[in-house]
Order: sequence, then structure tokens, then C-alpha cells
Amino acid sequence: MRLNGDNLKMAVQRQGRLAEPSIGLLKSVGLDFDYYEGRLFAHCRNFPLDILFLRDDDIPEYVQDGVTDLGIVGLNITEEKGAQVAQLDCLDFGSCSLSIAVPGRGSIRTVFDLQGKRIATSYPRILSRFLSEKKIEARVIEISGSVEITPSLDVADAICDLVSTGSTLRLNDLEPIEVILKSEAVLIAHPQSLADPRKQELVERLRIRFQGNIKARKTKYIMMNAPQSALERIQQILPGMKSPTIVPLAETGMIAIHSAVPEEFFWDVIENLKKAGASDILVVPIEKMVV
Ligand code: ATP
Ligand code: ZN
Repeated sequence: MRLNGDNLKMAVQRQGRLAEPSIGLLKSVGLDFDYYEGRLFAHCRNFPLDILFLRDDDIPEYVQDGVTDLGIVGLNITEEKGAQVAQLDCLDFGSCSLSIAVPGRGSIRTVFDLQGKRIATSYPRILSRFLSEKKIEARVIEISGSVEITPSLDVADAICDLVSTGSTLRLNDLEPIEVILKSEAVLIAHPQSLADPRKQELVERLRIRFQGNIKARKTKYIMMNAPQSALERIQQILPGMKSPTIVPLAETGMIAIHSAVPEEFFWDVIENLKKAGASDILVVPIEKMVV
């Protein structure tokens, strides 16, 4: 298969934590392409897009150099590479923190105790920036993998590594003392591709689709019954969205109210709706949301 010069090109991780959710996002917005493990590129049948499957570390540079117009990669990697790319949208997966962690029962309790100490990391650039901002002089030891074992080998006094659940740290008797970067998967673009009207239009179409998918995942649709007299209070509780749908019920004085609710407020909203007199509350997932 050949890359088509006129098509938009996007790089995603070939194998690893971001591979499946990235491909899942592309498929869920209706892009039709063949994918199997080990594949290097794929061509979309129903959108002028070619997808390249790469190591995540290479993605920022490929996008910076315009080899691909777009890329999906962790913010941690783009920040570390310092690539000149446009950062377009957070994609709501792959979230983790780049954190400093230290041996559980050691003398280092805050980052200021790191003065004169050794810190092992695969993120020397982000770590050095953090240390100089905090005016901490410590030795940064660059390690490409398995950073978490360096304190027990006495190679380092602390580490700076990605953490999501913290279980790898606990396994190595390490505990986080400071988050230096919160990361998630982001959509990045080659700045000149955005200056090309044809490509920019395609990028915008993809972004609208991605946003529709992300918003839908973050939102629930709720339906409830309530006495007409409770409507005003209920409307005050329903956050953010435009006005809810209100339908009269067969029973006089009763109405059904439908609304979309952002997931982050979901349980608070439900509890408050019940208190305000809502009953028979049904919650359904939203598949796509284009506002
Ligand atoms: P590659 O072979 O592509 O270089 P990798 O081994 O560097 O892969 P993965 O471990 O697959 O990378 O992680 C890819 C990205 O997933 C990270 O850069 C980060 O953005 C995100 N991520 C989310 N949670 C974690 C975690 N707990 N540990 C590491 N990365 C995480
Ligand atoms: Zn990598």
C-alpha cells in the first residue's frame, strides 16, 4: 500500500498504552480502515486520511517535520521532546502524572530535600525545567527504562517517572511526593498543515468528530418524572446544558424532564434531583454529541 500525497496523514502509537484507545477513537468517529498488530500504515476508505503507526517517542518529531500532519501522543512526550507542534485538543485518555517519587522510609519528604541528590528519569528535560524553576540543584540521571529500580540499586536517591495507579511505585517501595506534569493523550498538528486551507478543513472535520465523541463519553442523558411545581428547582440543579426537554405526563400536574448532564457532576445532580422531588430517574449513555 502507498501513502497518498493528497491525503491528510496522522501518526498514532503502534503498540503500547495509547495504541488501542487511539485506534478506538478513530474507529468510533466512523473512519473505516483495516488494522492489525504490526501494521505500519493504513488508508481510510471513507476519509482522505492515511494513518502511520509509530513508536510514540518519534511522533512529535514526525509532526514537527511535517512527515505527518497530525499525531496522537502523550503530552509527556511532546513536552519532553520540546517539538515545535501545534497542540490542538486533549483526547481524554492515557491520563497519567509525571511524578517525583522517593523510597518510603527515607529522609526525602519534599522536593526541597532533593538538593544535592540524584534523580533518575526518562524525562530529563521536563525534570530539569522543574528543578530550575524551584531552584533545586540535583543531579539528573537519564535512564531509558525501568527507572523505578534505580533507588534500590543505589543508582539514584529519587526517581521522576510516569504514574497512573501507583502500583509499580508501591511494588518498589517508592512513594510519590510531587506531581510535575499531568498528562493525557493530545492531538498535535504540523503548524504549516493548519495554514493550508484544504488540510485545515479536513483537520477541523476530524476535530469536530473527536470532540463529539469525547463530549458524549463525558455526558449522560437523564430522564425523570417530577411534579410540575418542582420544575423551577430542578432547572436550577441541571447544570450547563441548554434548556431541558419537558413533556407533560398523563397524570395531571406531573411532567417528564430530559437533559444531558456532564459526568463530573453526575452523582451530585442525581442526589439533588431526588431531593427536589424527581422520581423514576433513568440514565442512558450518549453515543455522539454534536452541539
Ligand atoms: P513505544 O514502544 O511506543 O515507545 P512506550 O513503552 O514508550 O511505547 P507506553 O508504556 O505504551 O510507551 O506508554 C505510552 C504513553 O501512555 C505514555 O507516554 C503516557 O503518555 C501514557 N501512559 C498512561 N499511563 C501510563 C503509565 N502508568 N505508565 C506509562 N505511560 C502511561
Ligand atoms: Zn515510547
